[in-house]
Amino acid sequence: MEPIPFLDLGAVFERSKKDISLAMSRVLESGWYILGREVETFENAFARFCEAEHAVGVANGLDALELGLRAMGVKAGDEVIVPSNTYIATWLAVSHVGAIPVPVEPDATFNIDPDRIEAAITAKTRVVLPVHLYGQSANMTRIVAVARRHGLRVLEDGAQAHGARHDNRRIGAYGDAVAWSFYPGKNLGAMGDGGAVTTNNPGIADRLRVLRNYGSRIKYHNETIGFNSRLDEVQAAILSARLLRLDKENSHRGKIAQIYNEGLAGTQLVLPVVARHAEPVWHLYVVRTKDRDGLAAKLLEHKIGSMIHYPIPPHLQPAYASLGLAEGSLPISETLHREVLSLPMGPTMTKSQAIRVIAAVREWDAGRTVA
Ligand SMILES: *Cc1c(COP(=O)(O)O)cnc(C)c1O
Repeated sequence: MEPIPFLDLGAVFERSKKDISLAMSRVLESGWYILGREVETFENAFARFCEAEHAVGVANGLDALELGLRAMGVKAGDEVIVPSNTYIATWLAVSHVGAIPVPVEPDATFNIDPDRIEAAITAKTRVVLPVHLYGQSANMTRIVAVARRHGLRVLEDGAQAHGARHDNRRIGAYGDAVAWSFYPGKNLGAMGDGGAVTTNNPGIADRLRVLRNYGSRIKYHNETIGFNSRLDEVQAAILSARLLRLDKENSHRGKIAQIYNEGLAGTQLVLPVVARHAEPVWHLYVVRTKDRDGLAAKLLEHKIGSMIHYPIPPHLQPAYASLGLAEGSLPISETLHREVLSLPMGPTMTKSQAIRVIAAVREWDAGRTVA
């Protein structure tokens, strides 16, 4: 029995090998390796893809978030509203600018609950930072409405949602800006680190271009204390090649999700809840059960990989001990972190692999009495 890996990245890149090799040689032969034509070409293509006016390439997703916050003028002592249920990078970016992450609990979609945002707003709040977790858009209509009512900016974390739609429009410029990651395992992944920010706000785009390049618009003229956070030419060329396949890969993920939805219905698992406004791109297919560890062990018996996204919520990490958010302070998120399991998902996964996963889950289900 062939193992089913959680995600077969080698196979993903192998399929684009010709295009990627061509892209890499083109850069190699160009003699220009930082901030050149490839980055500009990719920025234009990605902005179009996201239905946004501007895209600015940066070094990685965490920098995209941090520079996005800086471009919005967030400063030390400010507060930024973040989901309690997210990858820690969302919080780290807030901390890196000296601001304070203020967590808000999720609803049934795993995303930030728009009903709970208003209660978290104080006189120090500057930005609301929703994450489109696992590939499903947060409720942007309601989040933007509450932010506008209070004069707040909205920065979105799109690291898991390249191509996702909200009310038929792509994620890309619902809020003031969207931070993207091109870490290899994302739906749009580079062969190394990469990131970008998309926005319809020309002022934010302009500040980002200066911030990412030593605070400089003209070489050796530095107008602010900037950073070195650039997307490089090789990664940009690879991303341009991979972007051409993204819609097809995302719809393949959608088909696998559909097979899971049908095959796992009626088991004791809590299946992913998709909001009416959302058209997800299934970065991850995340199920819930109190017997999460038992399920993972059963899958392993059948040589099926799975992962936990994420095992420990940010507020319970030693890194955030200083916030004083004790165990029990964010109970919804804490329960999720105990119960979630991500099943195999990816653009090269086959239907027969999905059927084998379903059979293994059903074997686990049959061996369990209802809790
Ligand atoms: C991957 C990820 C990031 C960070 O991206 P990097 O490119 O690894 O820095 C941020 N937020 C979320 C939700 C992510 O999944």
